[in-house]
This record gives sequence, structure tokens and C-alpha cells, in this order.
Amino acid sequence: MAEKQEYSYVFQSGVYKNFSVEQVFLKDPIHIARLYQRSFKNKTAIKTPNQLQLAVENLLEKIRGIDVTKDCPYCKAAKVMNFLLPDFGTVNGGLLCCNDPVCREELKSARSGELHAISDFMLMVSYMRRPQAQKIVGIFKSTHKNYQEAFA
Ligand SMILES: [Zn+2]
Repeated sequence: MAEKQEYSYVFQSGVYKNFSVEQVFLKDPIHIARLYQRSFKNKTAIKTPNQLQLAVENLLEKIRGIDVTKDCPYCKAAKVMNFLLPDFGTVNGGLLCCNDPVCREELKSARSGELHAISDFMLMVSYMRRPQAQKIVGIFKSTHKNYQEAFA
């Protein structure tokens, strides 16, 4: 098996000068999500992924590997994997479920909206208004209580 390459990136300027992508993620994940999304607007960056993109992709993979600490409110047997993005109103930390189709259906029937993987939250918060984005970050934090350990 090939050894996985680790990419890191340290900011050279700005508010987070001398901080790594992971350190900034712990302070302000929405900032990292937006920088990452913006980096694709630069056409040359698409051809050759730049260091920031590689470091963020590393980070996203780490996030997917972090243990979920909250049980599904429906079956109480599995861990929560999804949150509901409601069609109307704001995200709510109580609207969560595991990957079981029965639990997914129960949550969807409770409120109209779309289910999204909690572990992919970074890809969603980049294009949302900050209050909504912050609620989604809050869902990640409350369902992955030991997330900081992954970046220690
Ligand atoms: Zn469940």
C-alpha cells in the first residue's frame, strides 16, 4: 500500500499569518471553507492543485475520519451521520439521523428539506450566510466532541 502524502500549508500573510490550515480550521472553519471554494475560481489552480487546496483536501479527509460521538435520536443504536437542511427556516441541531433508511425517512417526514452528511459540512458552509454556516459548524462540533484531538 502506498504511503499517504500529508500536505500542509502555512499562511504567509493576513490575520492568520504563521498559522497552518489546521490551526485556522480550529479557530474559524468557515474562513477555510471559503478560501478553499474561492481557490477554484482561479483557472490555473484547477489544472495544478495548489498547496492550499491540497492541505484543505487533507483536512477534509481527516474530518471524515473523526469519530462521531452522538447517537441517532431515532434508532439510538447508530451514530448520527446526517443533518437536515430545511426548505424553510434555519438549521437545527436536533434534526439529525444515522444512515439507516428508516431513520432517514423518519427525519425527512418530520420536516421538509434535504439530508446532508455532517462530515461534508465544510463543502456547504462556504456558500451560506454566516449565521446559518455557524449553526452547521455547531452541529459538527456537537456531534464530534473530540474533533480537536484529530489536529493536536
Ligand atoms: Zn438511526
